[in-house]
Amino acid sequence: MSRPSLVWFRRDLRLHDLPTLLSAADDGGTAVALFVLDEALLRPSGPPRRSFLEGCLRVLDESLGGRLLVVRGDPTVVVPAVAAEFEATAVHVSADFGPYGARRDGVVEGALDGVPLVRTGSPYAVAPGRIRKSDGTPYQVFTPFRRAWAAHGWRAPAETGAHTVTWIDPAGFDARVPLPGPGADDPEFPPAGERAALDRWRDFRDRDLTGYATDRDRPDLDVTSRLSPYLKFGCIHPRTVLYDLAGRSDADATALRGELAWRDFYADVLHHRPDTARGNYNHRFDTIVHDSGAAADRAFDAWTQGRTGFPIVDAGMRQLLAEGWMHNRVRMIVASFLTKDLHLPWWRGARHFMTHLVDGDLASNQHGWQWAAGCGTDAAPYFRVFNPTVQGEKFDPTGDYVRRWVPELRGVAGRRVHRLPDGPPPGYPHPIVDHAVERRVALERYGRMSSP
Ligand code: FAD
Repeated sequence: MSRPSLVWFRRDLRLHDLPTLLSAADDGGTAVALFVLDEALLRPSGPPRRSFLEGCLRVLDESLGGRLLVVRGDPTVVVPAVAAEFEATAVHVSADFGPYGARRDGVVEGALDGVPLVRTGSPYAVAPGRIRKSDGTPYQVFTPFRRAWAAHGWRAPAETGAHTVTWIDPAGFDARVPLPGPGADDPEFPPAGERAALDRWRDFRDRDLTGYATDRDRPDLDVTSRLSPYLKFGCIHPRTVLYDLAGRSDADATALRGELAWRDFYADVLHHRPDTARGNYNHRFDTIVHDSGAAADRAFDAWTQGRTGFPIVDAGMRQLLAEGWMHNRVRMIVASFLTKDLHLPWWRGARHFMTHLVDGDLASNQHGWQWAAGCGTDAAPYFRVFNPTVQGEKFDPTGDYVRRWVPELRGVAGRRVHRLPDGPPPGYPHPIVDHAVERRVALERYGRMSSP
């Protein structure tokens, strides 16, 4: 039998529209399907993202007829070892542009002893680094990026499936680990895997896409696509969505395309500025003073538990703990609250999000946070401080979102739930800060930042 290649799955846990499979097919057509459980990536993921990942792997394994080789360890050791064991001709991957993934792939490439690492496609409609301004520098502002992104365009979905490659049965491979089964206590998360992703997309497209442009900011209506966990793990590629929207210029399709452009934009920004995974994009903010000490820690705990006394903030934080997901508008509100009302550094909040989000994605998360804190690219101006009460009234005008997530407030009717004019009901805290005061403190601290 001819020597196989290796298809190393990472953030592409699907078989349809997977260009990597075409390159494996061109390379002899027989392959070992590999996934490496890498502690460096599992550690920052809390149970929600880990169990969603495991679910996606189980579905992929089923689609491959039980032929997914799952190995635990450091990919820079595991991948060359598996390639050597099967005498692989090449290792096929979708390119990874994250700071850790790009570095890891470079090390793997060096350790493969002449076996090529073939990168085909990426998790993005347009791969990071591809679009640049006319002077060759990367975009720093979203709107011109989106224009160039749309003009660049994307390929049609690749016609692939399980049949594209003949999969080798890795049963005899010693280091294979069984996939963990679903835990009895696992919280309810979205159904995992490729089939569920495609169903979710088609359901959304046919039912909720109409009205998306106007209603997507309304957490009480809850009509966004909820594709983010599937996009995170590549159970669906954005190209599949964009292809379905082709030729549509209505407001709803345009708005959804715009959101997918944000995803590509932030990946592009992180690619050019890997330091922004931890540090401010705008270094002027490096001098800003944050609160610290026991009182700051207590405020942080109240925020994480959804006990700040600000109903929209608490609803969002409780949704995060319960569902591993939060509505985008509410993510912006809670992030603004942490940074501008509690004066805590954005990375503390970003770390909490990355632990609990099923869709936790370094580029979208860190830059979503930096946008809210004012220190990111294309950020909200630092002097625009969200008033959480007004935001709640505006975007949850029925109050249904708050009542869904904060049971103590279920007896408060309509939008009064945001202002609680009769005071907090039993069991619900008083506001932990005075927004008007903290807004002034934030503006004063921002005003003292060093000049650019
Ligand atoms: P839809 O409105 O249906 O949008 C469709 C897709 O477009 C999303 O699935 C997502 O892939 C992309 N998208 C939408 N809005 C954004 C955005 N603002 N930035 C980047 N991509 C976007 N998104 C993540 O996928 N992972 C994260 O870790 C993450 N952290 C965030 C942290 C903060 C503080 C903020 C403000 C935003 C964050 N976002 C993150 C972006 C956004 O909140 C989610 O993508 C969105 O809520 C997912 O829900 P949906 O799939 O229903 O979105």
